[in-house]
Amino acid sequence: MKWLTNLENIAKLNMAGKYPICGSSNTDYTLIIDEKETSMGHGAIWCNNCNNGFYILRIKIDNAIKKVIPKNIEF
Ligand SMILES: [Zn+2]
Repeated sequence: MKWLTNLENIAKLNMAGKYPICGSSNTDYTLIIDEKETSMGHGAIWCNNCNNGFYILRIKIDNAIKKVIPKNIEF
């Protein structure tokens, strides 16, 4: 899974870090809690350099952050 390291970075550092496929650190993410009781939610992570993105369908979220996904990202 191409984005695995970035998901780990988000969990540890609250930042996505370098996308290994293109090498750019111009990455971003959004995490939205759907169930307050369990902190489960969904999100997305993307690279602003090569416009690749990945949908996170279900994830436990400690620090929610809501950002608009750019329209040119390809999932
Ligand atoms: Zn990229």
